[in-house]
Amino acid sequence: MNAPMTSGTTQTLMQYFAASEARIDQWRTLSRLARALDGRGSDAGAVVEIQRCLRELAPIECLNAYPGQALLDQLNDRLKRGEWAAFHRMAARISAALQTNAYREDSAAWALDDEVEAVMGDVLPPAQGLSSGRRPYFEVLVVAAMDRSHWTSLKETFRRLRRPEDEFIYEIVAVDSFEDAVLAANFNYNVQAVLVSEGFIFDSQQDIPVLRELIAQFVPEDAQDGDLGGALAGVLSHLRPELDIYLTTDRDPAAVAGSDEVAGVRRVFYGPEEPMEMHLSILGGIKDRYRTPYFDNLKKYAARPIGTFHALPVARGKSIFKSNWIRDMGEFYGTNLFLAESSATTGGLDSLLDPTGNIKDAQELAARALGADRAFFVTNGTSTSNKIVHQAILTPGDIVLIDRDCHKSHHYGAVMCGAQPLYIDAFPLTQYSMYGSLGIRPIKQALLTLKAEGRLDKAKMLVLTNCTFDGHVANVQQTMLEVLAIKPDMVFLWDEAWFGFARFSPFLRRRTAMGGVAALRKLFASPAYREQYAKFKAEVGEIDPANQALLDTRLWPDPDAVRLRVYETDSVHKSMSALRQGSIVICSDQDWPKVEGPFKEAFYAHTSTSPNLQIIASLDLARRQMELEGFELVGKATQLAIEIRREINHHPLISKYFRCATPAEMIPAEYRKSGIEDFVVPGQTIADISRALNQDEFFLDPSRITLLCGNAGFDGTQFKALLSSDHDIQINKTSRNSVLVQININNTRSDMAHLIKALADISRDIDRRLAGGGEGARKAFDARVKDLVENVPDLPDFSRFHDAFRDDPASKSCEGHMREAYYLAFDDANCEYLGLNDPQVDERLKNGPDLVSAKFVIPYPPGFPIMVPGQVISQEIITFMRKLDVKEIHGFNAARGLQLLRPDVLEAHASGGKRR
Ligand SMILES: *Cc1c(COP(=O)(O)O)cnc(C)c1O
Repeated sequence: MNAPMTSGTTQTLMQYFAASEARIDQWRTLSRLARALDGRGSDAGAVVEIQRCLRELAPIECLNAYPGQALLDQLNDRLKRGEWAAFHRMAARISAALQTNAYREDSAAWALDDEVEAVMGDVLPPAQGLSSGRRPYFEVLVVAAMDRSHWTSLKETFRRLRRPEDEFIYEIVAVDSFEDAVLAANFNYNVQAVLVSEGFIFDSQQDIPVLRELIAQFVPEDAQDGDLGGALAGVLSHLRPELDIYLTTDRDPAAVAGSDEVAGVRRVFYGPEEPMEMHLSILGGIKDRYRTPYFDNLKKYAARPIGTFHALPVARGKSIFKSNWIRDMGEFYGTNLFLAESSATTGGLDSLLDPTGNIKDAQELAARALGADRAFFVTNGTSTSNKIVHQAILTPGDIVLIDRDCHKSHHYGAVMCGAQPLYIDAFPLTQYSMYGSLGIRPIKQALLTLKAEGRLDKAKMLVLTNCTFDGHVANVQQTMLEVLAIKPDMVFLWDEAWFGFARFSPFLRRRTAMGGVAALRKLFASPAYREQYAKFKAEVGEIDPANQALLDTRLWPDPDAVRLRVYETDSVHKSMSALRQGSIVICSDQDWPKVEGPFKEAFYAHTSTSPNLQIIASLDLARRQMELEGFELVGKATQLAIEIRREINHHPLISKYFRCATPAEMIPAEYRKSGIEDFVVPGQTIADISRALNQDEFFLDPSRITLLCGNAGFDGTQFKALLSSDHDIQINKTSRNSVLVQININNTRSDMAHLIKALADISRDIDRRLAGGGEGARKAFDARVKDLVENVPDLPDFSRFHDAFRDDPASKSCEGHMREAYYLAFDDANCEYLGLNDPQVDERLKNGPDLVSAKFVIPYPPGFPIMVPGQVISQEIITFMRKLDVKEIHGFNAARGLQLLRPDVLEAHASGGKRR
């Protein structure tokens, strides 16, 4: 077993994420050793082992309030005196309290050994302050220059401030150095608030060289000089932006409060401030994250006796609970669902379409939590969020650059707006029959082509998926910088449907759209960047579209010319605790005043006038959860994902047939300059991972696991069905030879065990089948595997729009008026049909006239349109379609064949009858 934080010479990603879990494991080990000792009596070896355990725990115990110094002292004392039974009793009690989280609620867990019975019998007065009832529990980190002997009385001081009416209860963790403070914020998930006073030291007393590296990731180089309080506040809010940070100072508080260094600080106290004032501030800070204005009000509404005279019979449940026939509806869903229903926007329920009260309030909290200027709740999924943004930004004829592998809502969005999609292809992962993600180079190429042809001003928006279904995470900062260097006012729509959780990971946050905005704002404001830009300008000059070298030159935008305009959409229901369809649009748009009107219109156009109240409430609650435990949940999910990857790829039986695709397999080397190959590699440190995150064009989200099943002789669809029918495991996405296993904030170690067991069972089955089937079975199996793994169809790139839909057929850039083709197809007389295998298809591919798709054709998998309306069908597309072994192809009816626009119709359209 790994020691919590101390083993090895380098801190691996695994150890980092596992530290909290490893601590609990270590306590379990300790308890087991204590039991053995208790049973056997004195045993020098066992005592040494126990001492080692305690020594390894010491550094991390300093960072946690429970069990705390007093209990640890008593525990050590029992060991020293050889009181094995008492030692065992205490170790077991602490270990159990940690595992079950009982210490958060149960005062007995905190009692010294001799006090336990008194506490259990409720003899200890509550004024002792140990009892928390069911109030949510958290910990406050105090960073102060203070003799350690004073820590106990400091903790007592805060306990005495507790009042019966407090909504939350907390304990103090005290540290006296910068390094310990960073460690505590990192490894103690219970820390929600930090009180920083002045005069503490930098270096930890703990000698844990491996952790220095981690700290170095987040600590500015000059932090050791000057004022440590401000620097610490900066580092902590970078690490965990949700933390409430308070600064106490002896200096002129007014001057301190106004300075830059305390930008991330919630409140500045002057030294001799009333402790009660601090106590109330701490509770107020938690309350500010805990409160859910919409949900709170909805609960109140449900409790009121209201007579309703509006549409919505289920409101208040009367049509259900009194029914003779659908009473089970009420039994199944419970009363609250119906008591909390209304079609009115009165009663303080506010209106999603024109929020002025608690919805507005809830949206502002969501914007803060996600690091955006604005947030808008959407109750019909990110499909709708995306369309809203399209319609708010684009006007007919505008060019929108779209990653062709984007979710279909973007393609339909472009149709609706009448914008001309300029499709750019992502890099293919042909071997897995999937696309990777859209590189920066082809985006630059498209923009430079538009610039060369004098049409760059028509390009309004760039749509990118981050992360992709399969986990490709973009380098948001570099992408935006290089695009803005060519087109300084480009609007970005980052579709982060899967990625909302990333905000709460200190690793991934920098690669979210809003993380990118924060970094770029800082960059553009810095004098150093101005110098860097001046140098770049002197070397490269104006952006010359004829200069192909620019494609491989890192481009930097003019800080005086850029307009930072960034939109992000998140399916809150996909990665956080919102009900299905709960989604959000967040934005930081420097030119918001220009968009506000159109955005409102677009929001009205797409939003139901009867938005689901429960979805709105769940968005509010999902935000609360992430602001209070997102850091913990995402950290644990990441750890689980990394563990599953390692388990599968190193399992002697499973790895014969299955594999989790590594970053090296999912991201071609040219996009992975750091050279990172996997998440856990001997000798690879947190610093290496961090470098990859900062530099590489793509990073793989560990929580999205592409499980390759081709070597087991299963195609993705087959394997998905097998997992579901025989093993009760549900997965969603498949490719020709893989399935996607997604790890979320809801997954547990039992889920991992379940999956590993299923894979082991299946592997054993294959082993048995092959062993029993003789030569024939082996040959058939090998042939099947070869077919799945090697005989993979090439993915067809976007071909082009037919000239009839192009403003300038001579243009090298490939955008087209897709909407015209889309509407031409409404009149069936404009269409013709050709069977996929009809020889005419081959004949026309060779000699014309062009085959032009009338429809979006979207096979699942891979789930992106291989044809869009008005697109010329290429040989590659036909070959791909013919090889495709999936049943579900939207927009294609095998019996009727390909739906095409007739050549004479195209000709007539080209020569006049345009609708644009
Ligand atoms: C799921 C998804 C959407 C659509 O989101 P819903 O909330 O299901 O409507 C949009 N974009 C991407 C990348 C998605 O994965």
